[in-house]
Amino acid sequence: MSVRLLPTRLPSRLLTTSNASATIKSLSQTQFIYRRFHDTPNAQSTATQQSLQNDPTHMIPTNTPSGADLAAPTPSSPLSFSTSLKHPGKKVSPNEYLKAFNNKELISFMMMGLCTLNSATLKLCIKMFPYVPMAVIKALVYRIYCGGETLDEVKQAGLRLHERGINNMMISLTIEACDGNDNIDPEYIIDETVKSINGILEPHTRTMIETCDKNINDIPSGYVALKPTGFAKNAAHVLKNYKNGEEAAFAELVAKATRACQAVYDANKRLAKEYPDRTAPFVVAVIDAEKHDLQPGVYELQRQLYQKFNKVNQPCYVVGTLQMYLSESASLLAQEERLAQENNYRLGLKLVRGAYIHSEKERSSIIHKTKQDTDDNYNAGITYCIDSILNQKDKESTIGHLVVASHNADSLKLASSKVYTQENATNINKSNVVLGQLLGMADNITYDLIKNYQIGNVIKYVPWGPPLETKEYLLRRLEENGDAVRNDNGWPLVKATCGTLIGRLFKA
Ligand SMILES: Cc1cc2nc3c(=O)[nH]c(=O)nc-3n(C[C@H](O)[C@H](O)[C@H](O)COP(=O)(O)OP(=O)(O)OC[C@H]3O[C@@H](n4cnc5c(N)ncnc54)[C@H](O)[C@@H]3O)c2cc1C
Repeated sequence: MSVRLLPTRLPSRLLTTSNASATIKSLSQTQFIYRRFHDTPNAQSTATQQSLQNDPTHMIPTNTPSGADLAAPTPSSPLSFSTSLKHPGKKVSPNEYLKAFNNKELISFMMMGLCTLNSATLKLCIKMFPYVPMAVIKALVYRIYCGGETLDEVKQAGLRLHERGINNMMISLTIEACDGNDNIDPEYIIDETVKSINGILEPHTRTMIETCDKNINDIPSGYVALKPTGFAKNAAHVLKNYKNGEEAAFAELVAKATRACQAVYDANKRLAKEYPDRTAPFVVAVIDAEKHDLQPGVYELQRQLYQKFNKVNQPCYVVGTLQMYLSESASLLAQEERLAQENNYRLGLKLVRGAYIHSEKERSSIIHKTKQDTDDNYNAGITYCIDSILNQKDKESTIGHLVVASHNADSLKLASSKVYTQENATNINKSNVVLGQLLGMADNITYDLIKNYQIGNVIKYVPWGPPLETKEYLLRRLEENGDAVRNDNGWPLVKATCGTLIGRLFKA
C-alpha cells in the first residue's frame, strides 16, 4: 500500500480550539500518521479528485492500528479491548449469545450456517436465491434479518432487542429500488416512514429512557434510515442526472426526504421538552448510501439536509453515509467537512465499508484494491471523526455525530477503546458516537460489546417492510455472510446452534 509517512502534524483547526493542549496530548500519544488523499492505494477516479487535488486540507489521519497493535482476541471473546475497558474476567462461552434467540431463530441461523459451509455452497445459494419462493425465505431467514411487516411488529422487535441490552435501533422501511424499480410509490414510502418515526422511533426512545436504569445521555439515539432511491419514481435516473435535466424531479426527492427529517426534528423538540438534560439527539435521520453512480446525487441530498437541519451549536439531526471502500472517500470526508465549515452547518456521519462490492461494475477503478486498504481507510476515518467529536466542547465540533456501522471486531474495538476511556468518563460528547450492526449479523460481537464490556451505545439496524421488497437486502446479507463474518459462520455456526437446541431439549 502506498502510504506517505509525514512528520506528526495536526490539522490547524484542531489547534485553534480551547482544549488544544488536550488534543495535542491525545494525538501525539497515538502518533498520527497522515496520508495525503492522492496517496490512497487506487488512483482517484472521479472529478472529485481533480477539484480537490490542490487543497492541502485533504488529508485524513491514519491512526490505524496494524494487526500487531491490536491485542489478539481471546478464545472466549471475539473482542479484546484496551485496559481502560473493564472485562468481568469470568470465562464466557463464545456461544452464550445464542441463548437470547428462540428455537425458530436458531434454526434460521443454522440454515445460514449451512449456506456458508464453503464458498461453493455459498455461490450456489446466491445463484438460487432469486428463485427461492418467498414463503421459504420468510419461514427460514426473514425473521432473523428483518424486524417485521407492521409498526407493531417492529415495536416488538425493539423490545426484544432491549431484552438483549440493545437500547435503540435504526429502523429502515426497506423497499429496494436501486436498479430503477418503477413500481415503487414514493408517496407511500414517505407516509410510512413518517408513521414509523412517530409510531415506533419516538415512543421506543421514550420507553428506553423511562425503563433503562441509565443516565439520560447514556441511552443511544434512535435512527430512521432513509433510502434515497425510495423517494422518487425512477430515482436512479433522477439521482444520476440531478444537475442534468432532472432538477425538478430531484427537488421533489429532496422535498420528500425533508418531510422525514422534519418529522425527526419535531420528535426531537417534543422529547427535549420532556428530557431537557439530554445533550445528544433523541432521534436522527440517516441517509443510506447507494451504488456508486447514484452517490453524487445522494451527496447533494445530504448536503441540503445538513444545511437545513444541522445548525451550529445544535445536535445533529441528520446523518449522511460515507462508504470507506471507495478510494475517493478520504477526500470526500475532507470535502464534506470543508463544505460544512464554509456553509455554517454540522456534519453527522455514518461510516460504512460499503455493501455493493459484488455488484459495482467499475469496481477496479472506484474501490480500494485490497480489503486491507479498505480496513485501513475505515479505521482512519472513524479515528478522525471520533477525535473530532471528543476533543471539542459540547456541540462545537464540525463533525457532531458518528455511527460506526460495522461488524468488524477490530474496528469496533478501535472505536470503543477510543471512546470508553477513563479520560472520557465525563465527556458528554461520547454519546454522539454510536456503534451499529445489522439485525442478524455479528450478534456474538454485539453481545460481547454489551455484556462483557458494558458498551452502552450499541444499536441494531432493523429493516422492515413487505418480505418481497426486502429480497435484494436479504441477498446482500447472504453475500456478506460469506465474506464478512467468516469465522463464526459455516460449520461453527451449525455446531453452535445445534448445541444450543440440543441443550434446550435436554433441559426440557
Ligand atoms: C448499521 C449499518 C448500516 C449500513 N448502511 C449501509 C449503507 O447505507 N450503504 C452501504 O453501502 N452499506 C451499508 N452497510 C453495510 C456495510 O457497508 C458493509 O457492507 C458491512 O457492514 C460489512 O462490512 P464491515 O464493516 O462489517 O466489515 P468487514 O466484514 O470486515 O468487511 C467487509 C467489507 O469490506 C469491503 N471489502 C471486502 N473485500 C474487499 C476487497 N477485496 N477490496 C476492497 N474492499 C473490500 C467491502 O466493503 C465488504 O462489505 C451498513 C452496515 C451497517 C452495520
